[in-house]
Amino acid sequence: MIFDNALKQLEKAGKLIRIDKEFLERLKKPNRILEANIKINNKTFKCYRIQHNNLLGPYKGGIRFHENVDLDEIKSLAFWMTFKCAVSNLPLGGAKGGVNCNPKKLNEKEIEEISREYVRKFVDYIGPEKDMPAPDVNTNSKIMDIMTDEYEKLTNDKRKAAFTGKSLENNGSEGRDTATAQGGIFILEEKFQDLRTIAIQGFGNAGKMAADLLKNQFKIIAVSDSKGGIYNKNGLDIDEVIEIKDTTNSIINYNAEKITNDKLLELDCDILIPAALENSITDKNADKIKAKLILELANGPTTPEADEILFKKNIKLIPDILANSGGVTVSYFEYLQNLNNEHWSLEKVNEKLKENIIKSYNNAEKIAKKYKCDLRTACYIKALERLKNA
Ligand code: NAD
Repeated sequence: MIFDNALKQLEKAGKLIRIDKEFLERLKKPNRILEANIKINNKTFKCYRIQHNNLLGPYKGGIRFHENVDLDEIKSLAFWMTFKCAVSNLPLGGAKGGVNCNPKKLNEKEIEEISREYVRKFVDYIGPEKDMPAPDVNTNSKIMDIMTDEYEKLTNDKRKAAFTGKSLENNGSEGRDTATAQGGIFILEEKFQDLRTIAIQGFGNAGKMAADLLKNQFKIIAVSDSKGGIYNKNGLDIDEVIEIKDTTNSIINYNAEKITNDKLLELDCDILIPAALENSITDKNADKIKAKLILELANGPTTPEADEILFKKNIKLIPDILANSGGVTVSYFEYLQNLNNEHWSLEKVNEKLKENIIKSYNNAEKIAKKYKCDLRTACYIKALERLKNA
């Protein structure tokens, strides 16, 4: 279902530039699907690594721990990584991994064991020249450190470049923890200075970091996580919301008006930032959206039907494969630092990230104007051109 949506996005762009049908068909299929079962304490967890395409370079993409993880979701996320790397001009291909589990019901030891077993299952297909995983939903630098340790034990490769999103103490990059949000925010700051009020769905690596980086220049009127949302039309105190999230595990314990995740999407605000999971903006609610701009920090939050509605309503949408590409861009910087034994300053990382993402954005705007299409289709066109040339 999610993968069907991803294919529709590709087909729309392919049709506009009349791309060779055979090439398009080739891009629809992942190169490799790896599946395995992880058994811990009498419990079995299905896990995946899907390598979609490596025309532009070694595979790259996060690992997700979530109870919704299945073949369809990971295939879609791997597919989007191919186009994200292509549109961002990175010499990388697209992949994604996941474990079907609910980390909230697992203890720390079990999460560590799942992480190590994941690497043991797929070690032959992972490495700086093959495929480099990174964090995604419910995984973080601690898990990347554990995976790096297991990978080193199994391969004796000490370059630390097989996984990105590691902690700073373990050869991670400055700015990787903020990169997904920071990339999108560079576009907002550079191009949309007249917009002020913001609602953010999802309060993890992408959403919480976005709120923290935006809090001084913009007014954040609503945020949410999996338990629900909070709203204050005069603006939320983001430092306090973050403290509540960090100490109680949910923003819902903050003292403000409670709203549902659905309601948050329909709020009267300038910028809407979906930063949770797929398919939150659909043909059922797109018509009710009042924001002027949507910045997709999540992957796949908008269905193709909703895209059409938003385009007709003149709501600008900065698509996932561009808006959240800061994450993979700084992951690439981390990989370069590891291979060359360097450590870049935060200023250098952010300067290079800003330059790259603004260039990609300007390019997408130009293509959108030329083909009179939305920015998502424009990004696919750019990516298709790069992939075709490769
Ligand atoms: P995370 O696990 O750090 O946070 C996810 C957040 O979403 C949590 O606050 C969770 O409570 C919330 N959430 C879950 N289900 C929800 C629901 N139904 N409604 C509202 N909120 C819900 O994950 P993350 O890394 O922030 O990833 C979020 C999105 O950003 C995903 O789509 C991911 O693929 C994308 N992304 C992440 C990165 C990265 O570097 N971490 C990079 C690019 C894109």
